[in-house]
Amino acid sequence: MAQPGVSYLITNAQTVLHQNVLQTVEILVQGEKITGIGKPGELGVPDSGPHAVAVLDAQNHLVLPGLIDPHVHLRDSGVLNVEERQKEDFGSGTKAAVAGGVTTVFDMPNTIPSTTTLSAYHVKRDHAAKTAYCDFGLFAGASKDNVGQIAAIVEAGAVGVKMYVGASTGNLLVCEPNLEEAFFKASAEHGFVLAIHAEDQACLETHAAVYDDKKAPRHNEVRPPECAELAVQRAVNFTRKHHGQTYVCHSSTKAEADLIRSSKSEGLSVFMEITPHHLFLDETESDRQDNRVRMNPPLRSASDVKALWTALNDGTADTIGSDHAPHTLEQKRRPYWEAPSGVPGLETVLPLMVTAALDEKTTLETVLRLCCHNPARIFGLRGKGQLEVGFDADLVFVDLKTKRAVDESKLFTRCGWSPYVGMRLRGWPVKTFLRGQLVFENGIPSGPFGKEVQKEGTNHG
Ligand SMILES: [Zn+2]
Repeated sequence: MAQPGVSYLITNAQTVLHQNVLQTVEILVQGEKITGIGKPGELGVPDSGPHAVAVLDAQNHLVLPGLIDPHVHLRDSGVLNVEERQKEDFGSGTKAAVAGGVTTVFDMPNTIPSTTTLSAYHVKRDHAAKTAYCDFGLFAGASKDNVGQIAAIVEAGAVGVKMYVGASTGNLLVCEPNLEEAFFKASAEHGFVLAIHAEDQACLETHAAVYDDKKAPRHNEVRPPECAELAVQRAVNFTRKHHGQTYVCHSSTKAEADLIRSSKSEGLSVFMEITPHHLFLDETESDRQDNRVRMNPPLRSASDVKALWTALNDGTADTIGSDHAPHTLEQKRRPYWEAPSGVPGLETVLPLMVTAALDEKTTLETVLRLCCHNPARIFGLRGKGQLEVGFDADLVFVDLKTKRAVDESKLFTRCGWSPYVGMRLRGWPVKTFLRGQLVFENGIPSGPFGKEVQKEGTNHG
């Protein structure tokens, strides 16, 4: 069943009609593609005789297009680094992806070495193509000296360009205004999406200087909302001036949501990504989990969290990105100023979001739009993110009934822990298909079968 080139008919599949309303359909898969969708019996596919097609009963599970996670850090440049390898690599990280119902990930460029040159891009891509369990896109990194080469990396296949205007993990930082603006200009000239880590560096430095290592401050005080607001305001201004496409990674505050909402009403191409941790946890979580929940940008106040849910449900937010950023627990146990920032999240996006829909904090329709449709549309992926004829048969069967606690011993991420440990969730994936091929079943990933994504309007393979 479900080998390449094999046809099969998925019966008793529940798909999202609108909001939380489901409908039963049958889905015909031939080779890597979806070739038919219809009401039960409508496709007229024979299940016996010489033209018989194998039947795969979805047992009334929800069937979604495989999730597209536009923001992960798999820590793997393709050049072996022993310390990074303890946290993750393309193999372990993409096993976590398919186990989480994610069939496409976009890897961020702050690896060692960073993805800032054409050759670094090629090394990472060739390595990922040999080891990834799901499909992947790679971001090119903006640096102090590569604005002249950035178009070539995008031309070679990079899915977008990531720019850090505030320092975070890694050493990528673009914080001179002229240089920062040059990348917004390049986004317009060369038609790529500029994804930004939007925390203003001068603002971060001013606030960090107030504290010293005798205090154990809340991370949200050291990197406060106003730093994010400043950076997003500047990004909106540059987008208005140059008309590029700007993607605000991990938007975490009301101020950012308000700025992005009004920039959309102006007609600017400013996109808003939200992470699950900014939706499901707030700044008080560090009282319980300490530096485990230290990440950039930080967990915010309850009122910011509320504003993110509003943005999610009123159409302001475009995507959910996990910002999966594994670190070892040993590193997380270090004192505040020495602990690294970042949390794993690939395996929990789907159950968190589905549980929220079943609890009526949002709808399955919104989850589908933000986790599948929109990442494919914004980044121009060919054949991804839709349950439609002609699209890749990237599918996930989702159990809407079974409630199960997040169990760290069952995770595939090499770091082996989760900020949601113990949380009881529904919406766990039971089967994942990548381009027609079964890549996760009975709790076990199979592969590696991942390929680099193709962008619309290119012949890049
Ligand atoms: Zn990130």
